[in-house]
This record gives sequence, C-alpha cells and structure tokens, in this order.
Amino acid sequence: MIKEILVKTALSPSKLPGLDYALNPYRGCQHACVYCYAPSVIHWDKGKWGDLVEAKVNLPRILSKELHVKKKGIVGLGTVTDPYQPAEKKYEITRRCLELLLTHDFPVCIQTKSSLVLRDIDLLKKFSNLEVGITLTTHDDRLREKLEPGASSVEERLHALSELSNNGINTWVFMGPVMPYLTDVEALIDSISMVKPGYVLVDKLRMKEGVRDSISGFVKEFYPHLSEKYETIFSGEENYFVKILEDIKKSCENKDIYLRLSQAFHQ
Ligand code: SF4
Repeated sequence: MIKEILVKTALSPSKLPGLDYALNPYRGCQHACVYCYAPSVIHWDKGKWGDLVEAKVNLPRILSKELHVKKKGIVGLGTVTDPYQPAEKKYEITRRCLELLLTHDFPVCIQTKSSLVLRDIDLLKKFSNLEVGITLTTHDDRLREKLEPGASSVEERLHALSELSNNGINTWVFMGPVMPYLTDVEALIDSISMVKPGYVLVDKLRMKEGVRDSISGFVKEFYPHLSEKYETIFSGEENYFVKILEDIKKSCENKDIYLRLSQAFHQ
C-alpha cells in the first residue's frame, strides 16, 4: 500500500561516511529486505516492513527551497529507503529531486537495488559529481528472491551496472550484507568483475536492534540446518567475518577489483 504524505524538511545531516546530507524520497521500502535495519533507524511503527510505503509527495518543493540556502555538500540519495523502489515508477519523486540537485550542482551518491535507476540515465549523465552504487548480496537469484523479495533480480542489477558504466557514470557495488554460509563470495565477485565497477564496498551482516529476529526467522524458515551456526555468530562465539574477509580480499585481488571495507569491519 502507498500513502502520500507531506514533509517539512528534505535534506538532513548525515553521519554516514562520505556523505553530508541524506535525502529519502520515501518512508518505508517495498523491497522488504530481510536484513533491513532502516525500521529501527526511523522508528517504524506502521506494521510489517515493506507492506506500507509513504511517498513524500511535496519533497521536491521543499528541496527546491533548501537548495537555495544550504551549503553545498554530498547528498546520499536513499539512506533509509530505496529511491528506486516500485513506487518511484509512478511518483517520480527521486527523479524530480535529481533535476533540482543537478540545477544546483550538488554532488550526489545514489544507492539502490533497482534497475529502475536506468530510467534516469539522461539526468545522471549530466552531473559533474555523481556515483551510483548498486547492492549485491548474492549471485544466486533464488537466494536473492528470499532475501530481497521486492528488489530487482541479480541479472537486472548487473545489467544496470553495466549500462551505467557504458554511459560514463561512476559506479560501485555495495556487497552486503555478506550472509554467513549463504553468500558465495567467490561467485559473487566473479559476477561483479564482469561489470567493472569503480570499487566494491563490502559489509558484514549487522545485528542491529530488530534485525536479529527477522534474520533468525528467515534462516529457520529457509535454511534450518544453519540455525545453530547463525546463533553462534549472533552470540559472538564465532567471528565468521574474519575468515570470509580473507576470501573476499583474495577474490578481489584475483579479479583486480578495488576493495573497500565498511566501518563495521573496523569495529
Ligand atoms: S532496499 Fe534498503 S531500505 Fe529497502 S528494504 Fe532493502 S535494505 Fe531496507
């Protein structure tokens, strides 16, 4: 279900590395990823994540005013929602915000799991400073369907990366979260290497508030044989990510991919 809402502010300060502002055209996300921690960040209390999306229909008007007074800085488009989720096909809020950001020459960093981003190539090409990150958690679309049911397929995302690059747009891959015992990192890096992103930013599965239950339920339903292993990781008894990081580094080296680690790997 989509509900139209009005907002009072558009750009909010961002604490995420490399971003000055966050701009989220929607509240809620139809991609409904199992591991999404946005509900706890935005204190979502409107039912199951993915069932309801609030479209900020007046966002472009508010953004337009703010862009006249705010100091220029890097805008992260979609930090707690996906700016290209299905609702965007109809509402085009992301597109209208991009038009304004382009007019004011604000640098933009987009992150999405949707090939709908290709619709806006005409605009994206015109920015002097813009990059598009596409998330990939697996090379296996059967796993993707369970993990990220509302998002584009693996193939569509790889195609989007390739098309963006072919149009001279800077791309990167958010490889995360790496799902213990499920993400085949070598196969995924192999697929990523074919589309030649500028870099890969890898992230581990984070156990934020509210996420653990969702992941435990997912593992119990689809991969019950892994339940015990996940519990060991959750409890901190096993640091799965130390070993897997070595494998990721090796695969990226072999494929000549520039690898960056998320903050979570430094904690
Ligand atoms: S695409 Fe991002 S915001 Fe949307 S459900 Fe998935 S992780 Fe959450």
